Amino acid sequence: MNIPHSTTAMTNSTPDRLPVTPALETKLPRVGTTIFTVMSALASEHGAVNLGQGFPDFDCDPALIDAVTDAMKQGLNQYPPMTGVPVLRTAIADKIEALYGHRYDAASEITVTAGATQGILTTLLCCVRTGDEVIVIEPAYDSYVPAIELAGGTPVFVQMQLGETGYTVPWDKVAAAVSPRTRMIMVNTPHNPTGSVLDTSDLEKLADIVRGTDILILSDEVYEHMVFDGREHASLCRHPELAARSFVNSSFGKTYHVTGWKVGYVAAPAALSAEFRKVHQFNVFTVNTPVQYALAAYMKNPAPYLELPAFYQRKRDLFLDGLKNTRFKLVPSGGTYFQCVDYRAISDKSEADFSKWLTTELGVAAIPVSAFYAQPKESGIVRFCFAKKDETLQLALKRLAAI
Ligand code: PMP
Ligand code: GLN
Repeated sequence: MNIPHSTTAMTNSTPDRLPVTPALETKLPRVGTTIFTVMSALASEHGAVNLGQGFPDFDCDPALIDAVTDAMKQGLNQYPPMTGVPVLRTAIADKIEALYGHRYDAASEITVTAGATQGILTTLLCCVRTGDEVIVIEPAYDSYVPAIELAGGTPVFVQMQLGETGYTVPWDKVAAAVSPRTRMIMVNTPHNPTGSVLDTSDLEKLADIVRGTDILILSDEVYEHMVFDGREHASLCRHPELAARSFVNSSFGKTYHVTGWKVGYVAAPAALSAEFRKVHQFNVFTVNTPVQYALAAYMKNPAPYLELPAFYQRKRDLFLDGLKNTRFKLVPSGGTYFQCVDYRAISDKSEADFSKWLTTELGVAAIPVSAFYAQPKESGIVRFCFAKKDETLQLALKRLAAI
């Protein structure tokens, strides 16, 4: 049967009046497409080896995929509990306790998130109110500032210092940036993009700054299992005073080579987790059920994450060894799967132009570190990601050796 297609809107519209989209004032005027998406697109357009966006070009353990399949076949396909499946929350709490000595209550202090990006946004949304200031240490991961702004907060920037030992946090400047309006300080260790890692003396200095205040801390620890040269990850939860005021964010994407699965978690004291969950239940509600069960089963074996530092340290060393044959100057770093290099002996282009040139002319994509600053800052440094098969790294090194 042919039903006449007629609606009120259609009856009222005349052929010479096209529907008009209302003007929308943007909430994020300084935001465009992320640098990672831009550089990955440029790399694929030019057939470049993509050492730009941070993701492995090798697959995860097939046992992990089997565990997801098993969970799906067992019918674990409906909404899980809002805070995450209990077996996974317990596995996370056990792991944190075993590694860092702090016990979170699995029921009230661990929340499973749709990756760290959501954990970070939700943390800011539940803590920050209009007019609050959030201290951001630059260079900073690109989601931080838009997330602060969406929460109505104002970012206050402190820049890391670059010296012979690499990038370090100037805690005296962080202390000087604190004002009566400071609601939160954001830290990231191991640090993207610089690869620097905090140590216990950094934690002490941070504790000195926040002691006696209401300042909260967001600690981004997604690279917690990529700390090299025998150093230990300085999780903020190792420090009882800091743990009492921190939202510790992590992500399984980095640890298990599954960046596309987007599952992570936030560990925070019960009172903070309760506020986090109020927002969480209305911006994601729940996170992929079978993946949560699979991760819980897979985490029973600690070997994959305990072996990760050695796995990535070998790749880092392979990459660094090859870079010795180039005119790049290495920026010392102790963690993550990123390596920053100073290219000023090679070119005086801006970081963005040099990254584009490397991608289009030399066939190796990189990320300009200037993209991690709110105000353009040129240091002559770009970031490479070495989470790649050895042959990918070797091909990139061969191309880089040409300059
Ligand atoms: N924080 C940092 C420092 C990151 O590098 C990333 C992404 N690689 C994230 C957060 C986001 O993690 P996820 O992919 O789990 O959202
Ligand atoms: N975190 C990854 C990086 O720093 C990229 C994630 C993304 O593309 N947003 O390269």
